[in-house]
Amino acid sequence: MNRITGDMTTTNKRDPRYDILFEPVKIGPVTTKNRFYQVPHCNGMGHQYPSSMAEMRAIKAEGGWGVVCTEQVEIHHTSELSSTIEGRLWDDRDIPVLRKMTDKIHTHGGLAGIEPFYDGITTPNSYSREIPMGPSARPVYGLYPIQVRAMDATDIRNVRRWYVDAARRARVAGFDIIYVYAGHGMTVLSQFLSRRGNDRTDDYGGSLENRVRLLREVLIDTKEAVGHDCGIALRLGVEELLGDEGLSSVGEGRDVVEMLAEIPDLWDVNLSDWANDSMTSRFAASGFQDSHIAFVKKVTSKPVVGVGRYTSPDAMVSLVRSGVLDLIGAARPSIADPFLPKKVEEGRIEDIRECIGCNICVTADFTATPLRCTQNPTMGEEWRKGWHPERIAPRHATESVLIVGAGPSGLEAARALGQRGYEVTLAEAGPAMGGRVLREATSLPGLMEWKRVADYRTYQISQMANVQTFLNSPLTTAEVLEFAADHVVIATGARWCDSGVGRALNRPIPRDAGAVVVTPDVIMAGHVPGGPVVIYDDDHYYMGGLLAEKLRTAGCDVTLVTPSADVSSYTHNTLEQERVQRRLIELDVKILALHKVVHFGTASVTVACNFTDRSHVIACGSFVPVTMRRPIDTLFHEVKALVGTVGSAQPTLTRIGDCYAPGTIAAAVYAGHHYARELGQSASDAVPFKRELPALAPY
Ligand code: ADP
Ligand code: SF4
Repeated sequence: MNRITGDMTTTNKRDPRYDILFEPVKIGPVTTKNRFYQVPHCNGMGHQYPSSMAEMRAIKAEGGWGVVCTEQVEIHHTSELSSTIEGRLWDDRDIPVLRKMTDKIHTHGGLAGIEPFYDGITTPNSYSREIPMGPSARPVYGLYPIQVRAMDATDIRNVRRWYVDAARRARVAGFDIIYVYAGHGMTVLSQFLSRRGNDRTDDYGGSLENRVRLLREVLIDTKEAVGHDCGIALRLGVEELLGDEGLSSVGEGRDVVEMLAEIPDLWDVNLSDWANDSMTSRFAASGFQDSHIAFVKKVTSKPVVGVGRYTSPDAMVSLVRSGVLDLIGAARPSIADPFLPKKVEEGRIEDIRECIGCNICVTADFTATPLRCTQNPTMGEEWRKGWHPERIAPRHATESVLIVGAGPSGLEAARALGQRGYEVTLAEAGPAMGGRVLREATSLPGLMEWKRVADYRTYQISQMANVQTFLNSPLTTAEVLEFAADHVVIATGARWCDSGVGRALNRPIPRDAGAVVVTPDVIMAGHVPGGPVVIYDDDHYYMGGLLAEKLRTAGCDVTLVTPSADVSSYTHNTLEQERVQRRLIELDVKILALHKVVHFGTASVTVACNFTDRSHVIACGSFVPVTMRRPIDTLFHEVKALVGTVGSAQPTLTRIGDCYAPGTIAAAVYAGHHYARELGQSASDAVPFKRELPALAPY
């Protein structure tokens, strides 16, 4: 095991068991140096923040990924995804932007892959205002009052031509692997394939042979256009989990692979749609796709890549040896640890920062913001802040830092400050490291993988002689000041409130004397509330839904009341909402949406309609408000009042994470990292990152 330093050390040797992962694999005319393959993934940067996107991909190549792909890349203005931010290759003017990415990937010895796409039914074309087109007339996905028109023979010819034009441009831009993308229901190619979305009566509808025609044509066109220089990958969602209504690994999904088996140079296969492909750890364990895709290698002689949140090199070796995959695909594991392959290569398995399967990364796509990751706080900051996931500047001076609280923010601050070389002391009141992430992972159903946030950091700092950790050490104000550190960081977290104040209500909910109110913290500590339980979820992320699941499973009669239209609404952004709601319905949790709780008593709560304020009463023995959290910041304020007074210590004092403003675990990790990166830098009002400024066209 290597000590972690500002510069990565590379003295260890890889375990020969993993040699197979470093074998080259031929993909048509190109060869990847190893089996680590970053499949296409969205990143919220795309054509709008191209330098950020290029640097993020470059760091993956530096971290050892043999192939690094783009996200979806628009090929024509009649199919654009302006509500998210994807790649763009509408004409030759887009080539230099993508060239930046391929040049950087090549510098590190990687192959660059591109995923051109022509969308059909899933885009309203809000920017170009062109009428979207697809196999058949349908409303577009989502809630846009827009319809897709059915393509005619000219449209089909045009789309084929646009795919070829894009492939040629991609080759000029330096790409080595060019995708033909028919996954996730997101291109016309997969929509033509689908029985559900294709009711054409011409040569492109009806039988599977007809429905596969456009995909076959685009595949052959692309091969003919650029196949002598570039590997052609076919990405297909072979299983849609819809039975006979969709493609399946025992039905039409398999049939399509058999029909096209030897045409592409590489098969990239997965579950479809995106919510099935990127299932969170709450709903699926690593390797959840294996049984659905295992048939592909039996049907084709071409190499196969697939995904499944693989973070363990042993599992990767077993997938290759057992003939399931030739290339280990990764989106999320490569986001959580861009240096995963390098760490395997250098025999540093314990240093791998494993993805926790939370899908905070996916929220970036839905919110059109640069990619972020719970485990990797440098994600999306590579270019604009110059943050490297493995390297960090040495300390600015021989100074000491006392961190109070070992939740995600305190742990990450300790880890990164330790890496910089400061003398760090981390004091934690409880008996274990991890704070809220440990509490949530061990007490809420399905979140056990989230513990990796604490495990990774606890292990890393255990390897640093300059970081001392103390458990069962609740520090007082006097102790903090007596410690006489140069810098004090308060990371003492937050607690759930019991008042009911939240988004819908700005005043505490009136309550009767004797009414039982139980906070999420008390339930997570092991208490099972009595009587019918009413959970009032005005937080809208995972806590309300998970408490309902936990208490219902423990036998409680549970009603979940929420001012939102559905339960755990924010989890639309993590691709989980439908699964959350389905699970609660199947557990017989009663759901009352679009209502707020306006009073609670000893045996009932009063709920009011969002729109009319009409109210009614429901039985309630225990009321559980999940509305907001309050920082535990007394220590901060007490220390602040004393710092600088006569005879007192003079440390700098900073509060970070939930103690400053409660948020996501990702935000807390980021806050800890941010503090550590910038300690020693002078504060400034300037924009704290590089910007990609719009270029004014000549006028
Ligand atoms: P964050 O998400 O910001 O990291 P958490 O709530 O996860 O916050 O973690 C805060 C941690 O701080 C908890 O583990 C808690 O036990 C610890 N803590 C709170 N007050 C003190 C204190 N006075 N001394 C030491 N540790 C404390
Ligand atoms: Fe994995 Fe979560 Fe990071 Fe996404 S945000 S890569 S799911 S740890």
